[in-house]
Amino acid sequence: MRWLVLLLIAIVATLVGINLGWRFVFAPLLALALLRWSIASLRVLVTDAKDLQKEPDGPAPVGGDERTLFWCEECGTEVLLLVRGSSRAPSHCGQRMNERTELLNN
Ligand SMILES: [Zn+2]
Repeated sequence: MRWLVLLLIAIVATLVGINLGWRFVFAPLLALALLRWSIASLRVLVTDAKDLQKEPDGPAPVGGDERTLFWCEECGTEVLLLVRGSSRAPSHCGQRMNERTELLNN
């Protein structure tokens, strides 16, 4: 059933494109793509905010005989974690950083 609807839309889009000009086909497609992308981005923000609220412990200092580093796959930046505010990794270059825990030999 779904492919039938898609086929119908494709036929209508082709007819409109040929008769009225392709800008009437591609402009709405572009608008739809942008709309979906912005809604997806907003959803990520809301999900992140919910994750933050779920942690009742509050910030806890990192200590003991291990240290936690976050590194950015994109540019190679490394960050040393001193206080853990949430279980989420920080972001750098538009993506989540990778976590690495090292044991310290005292
Ligand atoms: Zn980076």
